[in-house]
Amino acid sequence: MSSIDIVANPYKKDFPLLDTMPDLAFLDSAATAQRPQKVLDALDSFYKTMNANPLRGLYELSLQATEGINNARKHIASFIGAGPDAACDIVFNRNTSESLNLVAKAFAPTVLEEGDEVCITIMEHHSNMIPWQQVCKERGAKLVYMYCDTNGLITEEEMQTKIGPKTKIVAAGHVSNVLGVINPIKRMGELVHANGGYLVVDGAQSIPHLAVDVRELDCDFFAFSAHKIFGPFGVGVLWGKHELLDAMPPFLTGGEMIESVSEQDAVWSPVPEKFEAGTQDAAGIFATNAALDYVESIGYEAMEAREAALMEYLAREMGKLDFIEVVGPDDPALRRGAFSFNVKGVHPHDVSGILSGENVAIRAGHHCAQPLLLFLGMHTCCRASIAFYNDTNDIDRLIEALELVGRMFNAG
Ligand code: PMP
Repeated sequence: MSSIDIVANPYKKDFPLLDTMPDLAFLDSAATAQRPQKVLDALDSFYKTMNANPLRGLYELSLQATEGINNARKHIASFIGAGPDAACDIVFNRNTSESLNLVAKAFAPTVLEEGDEVCITIMEHHSNMIPWQQVCKERGAKLVYMYCDTNGLITEEEMQTKIGPKTKIVAAGHVSNVLGVINPIKRMGELVHANGGYLVVDGAQSIPHLAVDVRELDCDFFAFSAHKIFGPFGVGVLWGKHELLDAMPPFLTGGEMIESVSEQDAVWSPVPEKFEAGTQDAAGIFATNAALDYVESIGYEAMEAREAALMEYLAREMGKLDFIEVVGPDDPALRRGAFSFNVKGVHPHDVSGILSGENVAIRAGHHCAQPLLLFLGMHTCCRASIAFYNDTNDIDRLIEALELVGRMFNAG
């Protein structure tokens, strides 16, 4: 049993929404996290004191907005272990989905030929699946799936069987948004690199829970969204190895991404601007920087320890309800963030509707992972997801509301 005090909660006061809604049990952080006051302040302060279109302006406000973006780039590069010199390899866009589309549509066609293979896991979010389906169709390549075992884990044997000489790209979620498992990203990288291929990581669900080090993982691309790591909506980040970003063509074209334009042609700006067509969400990027400051002020070690204790408590309490079917590993130590389940004989939409009446927010549906759910023999499920700002009271409220569902439907 953990010695962390998960009854006390020193964090909720940092999050105005949680602070002003003490009756809400918010257990849907995997969909989007709550934002601390520091992030809201940063957004407000940008618009009040720095608001101007960045990059092109030569007057003071525009320079400040540009500096805000550049500081965020530097910070993110260090935050994910790419190093401060890698600021130019941080590409801003709208979200993880756009980052993954960028890699699949701009990079993949430069390396994929007919008969090649792209290998992904069955637990990918649609954002890291559909772009690969499309590019494989366009290039005459084959999309190969690594399947998980009954614990939700991708085994060494499965990786060795599926990642081979034909594999040009492995694209995998670092942490599954349904099963909560951490995928063996580093090992996938070793296998695909041994054959001269590339590793693309969807970090949407890992960065809110784990300290990420892209050099240690030895991936070629890493994507995440600010809104999952306590930052604003509308800011996506793609990091890529410099030589790859440099060599590949742009994804979107237009203003801000060119060095010069003639009637029939254009010369691209260097990375990262080459991939940042149009006006960036400068305020959102500025506030993303504040979100990272906030995470650093708490520290991943403290966040991880608290979440592990919360997950253990959640799994234990859920285990006491005999009408619950757990989706994913039984061992809570294998999970980060997400705990999916079903109430026997009750549709997940009914479950989440009743929970909502009790002011308990969870998610129900296919979680943008339809092939995974079909593989697991279901169409939908419920998902409770935690962040470090949750506490035992949130989980007790979930359990009480589920007991109500059990009574209403005579489940079990
Ligand atoms: N990948 C995973 C694993 C996710 O959980 C999500 C968001 N649910 C995404 C990608 C897509 O993120 P976004 O909607 O911010 O593009």
